Amino acid sequence: MTRTELVESLIARYPGVPAEAVLKEDLLRTGVAFDDSALSDNLDGEVKPKSYFIFSFDQKPLAELGEAATRRPPEEVALSGGPYGLRRTIVSVRVNPASPYRVAGSRLALEGREVADVELPPMPPYYRQALANGKTVMETAPTIQWGYLIYLTVLRLCQYFGAKEECRFCDINHNWRQHKRAGRPYTGIKPVEDVLEALAIIDEHDDGASHAYTLTGGSVTSTVDGLAEADFYGRYAQAIEERFPGRWIGKVVAQALPRADVQRYKDYGISIYHPNYEVWDARLFSIICPGKERYVGRGEWHRRILDAAGVFGPRYVIPNFVAGVELARPFGFATVDEAIASTVEGLDFFMSRGITPRFTTWCPEPATPLGRDNPEGAPLEYHVRLLGAYRETLERHGLRPPPGYGKPGAGNAVFSVSSFMDVLAPEVVPV
Ligand code: SF4
Repeated sequence: MTRTELVESLIARYPGVPAEAVLKEDLLRTGVAFDDSALSDNLDGEVKPKSYFIFSFDQKPLAELGEAATRRPPEEVALSGGPYGLRRTIVSVRVNPASPYRVAGSRLALEGREVADVELPPMPPYYRQALANGKTVMETAPTIQWGYLIYLTVLRLCQYFGAKEECRFCDINHNWRQHKRAGRPYTGIKPVEDVLEALAIIDEHDDGASHAYTLTGGSVTSTVDGLAEADFYGRYAQAIEERFPGRWIGKVVAQALPRADVQRYKDYGISIYHPNYEVWDARLFSIICPGKERYVGRGEWHRRILDAAGVFGPRYVIPNFVAGVELARPFGFATVDEAIASTVEGLDFFMSRGITPRFTTWCPEPATPLGRDNPEGAPLEYHVRLLGAYRETLERHGLRPPPGYGKPGAGNAVFSVSSFMDVLAPEVVPV
């Protein structure tokens, strides 16, 4: 079966999942190749370049990206039209020179046939502005989701280190090394003052386009700058909220911490907490997330997620999982049916308590153990069925789309690393 036949057969078999989401998931799990004509001129051009905001999110190492290694691809693309009549669909860019998808000029082709018009993100006027230390706003506070979210990876390394601790799908530490090796600016720990300076520039120049910020980075198992995790990430939140009270929705992606630490995040001014559980199944969690298993343990991780709901309110605790890793060889489920059943069990566990998980589509990055063994990622059918199951489970529990993601529904969604917002029913929600 060709890729086109696969995509079209899934669109036909799952009419409850919009064609936009089917195509978006395939692009996210497979990556896309770029003609030179569709690459950016880094900070010198009119297209917003890929900022490498946390992980590489590429299917090949930087050294094998060809021209895209020196002229960055765009951060995201907005697809529309084509034979499927796509409504506007924002997709994060994952580069794969071997992909059957190729962007040339303003068109996306699949196996040589045009499937969408492509709009490239315009360069924000503030992006190339230099801070006092000479670093750019792009390096310090990139914006994603078509400008909705300011992504503050304030710690570019994870203290879960090496094969016995790093999550087996994650290339955060490798990505730091490859950017350093390539001589790119890539700050390990971002000083609080730099973050404030970049935010002041964004606040002044982005015409209200940004609605939220995410504070994140690697896990802290000991200390950074003498601070344990809640205080390390919390000091940024505190400084941001003191300087720009309520200007953005504050989110933190961090470990599931004990309740007293979680309370400190809340006290520092954070509104939304993402204690990511990554994969639901107990056996797979212990294999795929050995550091989290060893330092915290799955049961305790889940208990802390439930405890956090008592601090933030269940709707404001939004743990992420990495959709697709539960099918990764050699440890994963053998069938899509088993993987969906396991994932839905996890969704039911949290959603029955008012907590709405969300997910990121797994990108099989080659420097990770799972990416190396599964360069094709998970089957597209899994991703499509998961989207249908997510929507059905959310509705069954009477929950609304999670806050802090903008408007749901195909044509509205801006969340770019999964289609979970694209498949939800459109409604008017506060941004
Ligand atoms: S906790 Fe796991 S997923 Fe998060 S940065 Fe560390 S290794 Fe990566």
